[in-house]
Amino acid sequence: MIKRYPTKQIFIGSVAVGGSAPISVQSMTFSKTHDVDATVEQINRLHFAGCDIVRVSVPDEESAAALKEIKKRIAIPLVADIHFNYRLALIAAESVDCIRINPGNIGEKSRILEVVRACKERNLPIRIGVNAGSLEKHLEQKYGQTPQAMVESALYNIKLLEDADFTEIKVSMKASDVLRTVEAYRGLRPLVEYPFHIGVTEAGTMFGSTVKSSIALGSLLMDGIGDTMRVSVTGELENEIKIGKTILKSLGLIKDGVNIISCPTCARLEADLVSAVREVEERTAHIKEPLDISVMGCAVNALGEAKHADVAIAYGKGEGLVIVKGEIVAKLKETELKERFLEEVEKAALAARKEA
Ligand code: SF4
Repeated sequence: MIKRYPTKQIFIGSVAVGGSAPISVQSMTFSKTHDVDATVEQINRLHFAGCDIVRVSVPDEESAAALKEIKKRIAIPLVADIHFNYRLALIAAESVDCIRINPGNIGEKSRILEVVRACKERNLPIRIGVNAGSLEKHLEQKYGQTPQAMVESALYNIKLLEDADFTEIKVSMKASDVLRTVEAYRGLRPLVEYPFHIGVTEAGTMFGSTVKSSIALGSLLMDGIGDTMRVSVTGELENEIKIGKTILKSLGLIKDGVNIISCPTCARLEADLVSAVREVEERTAHIKEPLDISVMGCAVNALGEAKHADVAIAYGKGEGLVIVKGEIVAKLKETELKERFLEEVEKAALAARKEA
């Protein structure tokens, strides 16, 4: 059982982050933010995929001005990602649920105070987003792009906000590789109480990012570190959420939808298991209840796995078994197995829904 590190709880709109709140999964759009229709379309796709909080880049005034209309047309909390230009933060604060800005990047103290005042007025938290690639010059010169520099940068930015009497803070410290990311978060964790947004930045395409994010986020989460997270994948939307949720499910940190146990296949296989698993995944994607379902290629491990699964299927030669909670409920021809199995999965989901 993972024991989560105790952190202060803040709210991004209606979503609690930190404390005992569930670990939320975030993502980010890649549309031009000033293109309201395209941005709303991407956000709604993310929402449908299970995204809890969404972030959009705000690189210019046109994008900042679009936030109001975007916010009206979405139903999940919206974070404005701003670099350097405090005026954009002031415009964004009128419409969004959280501002991501590093106070150390926006210049003189009066600007920090103005952003803090705007956030206080609307109860908005600020995410300090340290990135190994854009550290403050004095820290990069002293330490290079190291975890130590990232921790110092986070502490420096936190202090700027605390000095302005602002503590509704969450912190991220991302690098593009696993080791620096993990070391930075581990280094800062005992030093502050603020919730952490964890992630590996610029993690790459699907394959690379899935591996990097699983190692980094998995290691941190097993240490009890992390209150909200993003898996970043180049050019993807729904898959970021799918990977993030799967990491949380794999660690037992959320119970959400079906967990499919399927065998890797081997020479003992006598059925088309690969397409069967693919179809099962597609046809159970709508289920929100936590169910373990197992699809196995032969009797060698199938019966053992079936004991722990809510519903299981064990293929054999031309026929197979459907097993519910460890009990064999049907022995059928291979052509009939999958449909019966899916019926049993729907029944189990309905039963779980009624129980909840
Ligand atoms: S369950 Fe059977 S078919 Fe699947 S990998 Fe194991 S031994 Fe091979």
